[in-house]
Amino acid sequence: MRKELNMPATVGDVLKCLRKMSDVIHENKEYLTELDSAIGDADHGTNMDRGFQAIAKKLPELVDKDIGDILKTCGMTLITTVGGASGPLYGTAFLQAGAALAGKQELEPGDLLVAGEAALKGVLMRGKATLGDKTMVDALTPAIAALKEALATGAKAAEALEKASMAAETGMKGTIPIQARKGRASYLGERSIGHQDPGATSTFLLIRIMAETAHEIGF
Ligand code: ADP
Ligand code: MG
Repeated sequence: MRKELNMPATVGDVLKCLRKMSDVIHENKEYLTELDSAIGDADHGTNMDRGFQAIAKKLPELVDKDIGDILKTCGMTLITTVGGASGPLYGTAFLQAGAALAGKQELEPGDLLVAGEAALKGVLMRGKATLGDKTMVDALTPAIAALKEALATGAKAAEALEKASMAAETGMKGTIPIQARKGRASYLGERSIGHQDPGATSTFLLIRIMAETAHEIGF
């Protein structure tokens, strides 16, 4: 527990969040794979779990690093372990977030937006998806917009992340009735309609856990 509210988030807090991310991906491994079995190749859960377990293993060595370096290490780890389409995309997201937070030992709420916008930009550049293509972008884009709006009205990080998480969930559910235009699911054409996108789901889970962590640490 923190002694005071509205303190910046520390390296320890970031490591805690990454640990919780690896746990939530592990807990949802079967669920994510099941979603991917409907419109993909049934590997999204195993891909993501492999990557986030590799991150979890590295966390003890990262205690002396700054937040930028920690996120860059996560990005490299995801790129080299996750595979599939999602590995390079999540890897890029973490690399770009890390670059945006280079040298930081602490985070203010506004840093979340800087990192989030960099992550989204990286995903868009790498994957060339746009909103409505039925990908992780459909969860990430509204989440960053909600984060921005909430922070602009002076919300605490936890509240702003809560808004972002709710927007990501709505975006994730919005992938159900639409046809995939990017990634493996797009090969199915109209048959991709009626299924929730696995990558949008993992994105929502990761943002929700960030919100939960922020609440827990009083950020
Ligand atoms: P693969 O499709 O190679 O098996 P995964 O199953 O791990 O990889 O990840 C699939 C997810 O990746 C999809 O559900 C979608 O959200 C995301 N995705 C695929 N292609 C793109 C893209 N071009 N841009 C953004 N996200 C994408
Ligand atoms: Mg897959």
